[in-house]
Amino acid sequence: MDFAVAPPTPSRTAPPAPVGPEPWAPPELRLVCLDIDDTLIDCTAAIRVSLHALTGRSDLWPLWDLITEEHVALVVAGKLGYDVMHHRRTECFLAELGISADSAQVTAFEARRRDILATSWQLFDDVLPCLEWLRAAGLLLAAVTNASGAHQRRKIADLGLAPFFDHVAIAGEIGVAKPDPVMFHSVCLGLGCDPAQTVHVGDKLDTDAIGAYDAGLGAVWLDRDGTGRTGERAPAGVHTVTTLDELPELLVSEYATVGVPVQRAAGTPAAQLRGSVL
Ligand SMILES: [Mg+2]
Repeated sequence: MDFAVAPPTPSRTAPPAPVGPEPWAPPELRLVCLDIDDTLIDCTAAIRVSLHALTGRSDLWPLWDLITEEHVALVVAGKLGYDVMHHRRTECFLAELGISADSAQVTAFEARRRDILATSWQLFDDVLPCLEWLRAAGLLLAAVTNASGAHQRRKIADLGLAPFFDHVAIAGEIGVAKPDPVMFHSVCLGLGCDPAQTVHVGDKLDTDAIGAYDAGLGAVWLDRDGTGRTGERAPAGVHTVTTLDELPELLVSEYATVGVPVQRAAGTPAAQLRGSVL
């Protein structure tokens, strides 16, 4: 018995094309944005190394982190540029240690710190497998990072990350910073993707995950510590992973269109079946 269906005749009226996305269609994912510092690159470890090398002490990371948070907040608020912030942060750090340093000494300390950092950066172990999966899945990738331009581009290049990215958005270059929605939307616009087709992944709950969610993107908080540094908890709508190894499964479960497109060759059984009924 032949179940083949005859092709439609020209006289048949085609059904009207649906307007807009079908309401039952799963969300489409085209673009994944990734934070850099402490998401892909273990910056905390590198900074600890640099502080120990410069001061001989291993207990100064919390002080440095606190001062950094305060100064980065001024950058995010548009009150300081990155270059000035870096100088003032080091000046404040030395002052907290009771070290009186003039401007030249602060500059020298900061330069030495950067030299040590440049030899200490390392990727987390889960980064390359995740990036390779995302590329193999046919997704666009963007780096979206709050940092100064030259410093961050050097870091991205030195660690071999540049070839993975279709776009690199650095706050110090474009004049806005996460969580400003403009930062996220500029990346979507640059790559021709709707925010609803985009997911952002980062280690900061406020600037990365909640910022992305408020901008209309899918939001993933990478909580490598498992509990949040200050006991933070992700609000509804923000997904949490503790390693990038969990990201592919999360994306597949939330976005049914993620995956390597299946190209059926003309001679395969599936293609023959399709040809007999269409
Ligand atoms: Mg980060």
